[in-house]
Amino acid sequence: MKISKAFRAFDAELDTDVCRKRTNADLTLTLRLGLHQQNPRWADQEYDVVFDGNVRGQPIRHIVAWTPEEWSTFKRRLIRQVESVWNGKLWLLNRKDRLLFKDDTDTYAPNIYCKLKLIADDAGTRNHHQVVNVVRLHSGSEPFRANSLNLSDRSVIQYNSKLDSRGHPIPHAVAAHEIGHLLGLNHVDFGKPHCAAGTDTGADPCYGVTDEDMRNVMGGGMQVSLANAFPWQRALLMMAETVPALGPASQARLDDWAPSLHYVPPRKMAVAVPTS
Ligand SMILES: [Zn+2]
Repeated sequence: MKISKAFRAFDAELDTDVCRKRTNADLTLTLRLGLHQQNPRWADQEYDVVFDGNVRGQPIRHIVAWTPEEWSTFKRRLIRQVESVWNGKLWLLNRKDRLLFKDDTDTYAPNIYCKLKLIADDAGTRNHHQVVNVVRLHSGSEPFRANSLNLSDRSVIQYNSKLDSRGHPIPHAVAAHEIGHLLGLNHVDFGKPHCAAGTDTGADPCYGVTDEDMRNVMGGGMQVSLANAFPWQRALLMMAETVPALGPASQARLDDWAPSLHYVPPRKMAVAVPTS
């Protein structure tokens, strides 16, 4: 069974045809990004100025024109960074015996392998889930504070954002962080007292206070945690409305599919012993 569903933010495909004794079902989220080059306004201009992506009125950044080579390098790096952080890092455990399959002798309940595919091509060439502006910074420019609609060429280059409590640098993947927002995730500490809803959720503490949270991709790092499985859990929940094998939609809950950071093979179902 291969079932697809289109969401506003991405497409989802559930594939149980791949299920085997040691192979779980796949749930692939596909995000089609349309990238829009933001170039200096006049072709003969050496550089132009733009406002910082995140904070209007902050010091301006200097941008230069994209070259075809830099542009294709950027797209390649973007896909590599995003998929290396998000693709195939999480599983959802099948707590309610859904999507059962059989081999010659046994019946199994597969878990779900969470995959992400990023398609990044030029804005206007097809129907995209999101159009994102991308600037190429002048070599002397200050760093650009990206957001999910405004990236720079530096967003695909890993850098050390902060130091952890032992003074070790924390590598951060900016583009992967911003794609996390496009998947529906908020900052790692959103909802905690120091980052309450209704306050400035872009404030520093929202990016994590503990080492573990600062290292999360939705903090200032590039690791994933159980909470980052939410887009896949939610997609399954919504798919239950049209896929009977996912169980009664009215009873579907997010935690029917508990996230895991480790592979767990399909669960062999107990066989009913015939009574004689
Ligand atoms: Zn953010």
